[in-house]
Amino acid sequence: LALWLSSNSCATPHIEGRRPEFNDYVEDFVKLLPEHAREARELKVGFENFKMYPSKKDRDIIGRCYYDLIVPNTVTFDYEYWQTASPTSKYFTFLHEFGHCVCYSHHTEITQGWTAKLEEFLFKLKIWKRKGYMDDGCPASLMHPSSFDDSCALRHWNYYINEFKETCRSRSRRVK
Ligand SMILES: [Zn+2]
Repeated sequence: LALWLSSNSCATPHIEGRRPEFNDYVEDFVKLLPEHAREARELKVGFENFKMYPSKKDRDIIGRCYYDLIVPNTVTFDYEYWQTASPTSKYFTFLHEFGHCVCYSHHTEITQGWTAKLEEFLFKLKIWKRKGYMDDGCPASLMHPSSFDDSCALRHWNYYINEFKETCRSRSRRVK
């Protein structure tokens, strides 16, 4: 079962501010990357019901970052996923989407769907770096396009958090 974490240019759903459920997650993000406190706290964060979407591809989505021309960007999480997922899974999914929407971090492997061709191109030209998998099969980045097992998260916790921070710092330096 692949659950996809996507960033998308589809019409942004209307989200007002931030749902209180996410306050602690935002403050955790700020502890990791204090230099991004302002952007992180400004993001709109809410729920979306991806299971209602007509295409199979959309129904597997658990989180999404919508880039808007006028910031703040918007992050949504699938409502059902959020009610049932483990704390570890939610934390990693949250960081992943904030990686997109705050740091402009990209995926480290090709995503399914409309972005695949563009990603392939950027990886080929080495504009983006593909990170692949570790020896034990765990993805080598929190920015892997699909969610992964808690066992990987727990086994490589420090690695993932440090890699996430480094990626965010190098990306945002380039974007700004
Ligand atoms: Zn993603």
